[in-house]
Amino acid sequence: MKKRILALIMVTLFFNLTACNNSNGKTSSVYEISLSSDYDNSNEKSLSFFAMDTYMNFKAYGENAKTAVNEASALVEDLENKLSVTNPESEISKINSSANNAIKISEDTLALISTALDVNKKSGGAFDITIYPIVKLWGFTTGKYEVPNKEEILKNLEYVDSSNITLNEKEGTVTVPQNIEIDLGGIAKGYAGKKAAEKIRSMGIESALLNLGGNIQTIGSKPDGSAWGVSICNPEDSSKQLCRIEVVDKAVVTSGGYQRYFEENGKSYHHIIDPKSGYPAENGLLSVTIVDEDGMLCDALSTTLFVLGKDKALEYCEKYGIEAILMTDDKKIYVTDGLKESFSIIDQTSGYFLAE
Ligand code: AMP
Ligand code: MG
Repeated sequence: MKKRILALIMVTLFFNLTACNNSNGKTSSVYEISLSSDYDNSNEKSLSFFAMDTYMNFKAYGENAKTAVNEASALVEDLENKLSVTNPESEISKINSSANNAIKISEDTLALISTALDVNKKSGGAFDITIYPIVKLWGFTTGKYEVPNKEEILKNLEYVDSSNITLNEKEGTVTVPQNIEIDLGGIAKGYAGKKAAEKIRSMGIESALLNLGGNIQTIGSKPDGSAWGVSICNPEDSSKQLCRIEVVDKAVVTSGGYQRYFEENGKSYHHIIDPKSGYPAENGLLSVTIVDEDGMLCDALSTTLFVLGKDKALEYCEKYGIEAILMTDDKKIYVTDGLKESFSIIDQTSGYFLAE
């Protein structure tokens, strides 16, 4: 059996500034930041580090910039220790290994689980942090990728149901029954970006750009006062920039099947699972980008809308006032009204076109 394992996250930021992040879990060595020569980066402080299984880069401008990026990266590392499902000491591991016991959790974990439960309800179960038993079966946390057999999937699907999570916000505790396990992989990086941005803002920084391996968090505008340009990859060739969105003080988060996947017997299987089937979501969507002030919400919703598929995703956006860019396998790009002015296709040769 020929098995090829590929994982790729490519996000490119450009305009005067370009940062390419090519992450392949811990095995990737590609990380590159380049600034064009006309860019005044004299007061820029840039820090690259590895956290949450991806390469990250934080840039901040102005006084305190160096301390700000250092403290923000320390904050991300601290969050990783609390949230990582593969770290036996994390709060999440404690919850997962303490069936029927109320586990005291930090404000961070509480905020994350609370948002995850809310999105779970609003999406009719498309976003479900109790997906972990299924994610494990496919090998996405261990790297031992394999297509599980149907019986195993069906058996483990019984454990996928967020209504099994008891969150006591007053006491700050969470309880899960036997076999129910939580994975915050679909939301944690967005939260880390949000908290890092809060930290950086609190230090008086008005311009910063945080790249958390594909989750982009901007703070203010570029130092010259213009908007940040964030490019979104071609989902069929993630080495290419396909389109661009200009943002100020917002997060831009993309979920796509091309970001992490493996191939078995000529078929590829990605890491975003439809909780209804236990299989990678396949509905014609290739990528979903969410743009919002709240990076945590962006992260949860990019995963959610990817599972929902184009029609339900657009309904969700309409109902809850969410701004999104959806790319489908018939090369259409759907852009919600609030983003139309700041959106542009940059690769005219890609064959992708704006859907009506
Ligand atoms: P993202 O890259 O943000 O779309 O998140 C994908 C990650 O979220 C996966 O690697 C899993 O850890 C987790 N995940 C996969 N499917 C789901 C789902 N339906 N709901 C919540 N989390 C999921
Ligand atoms: Mg996500």
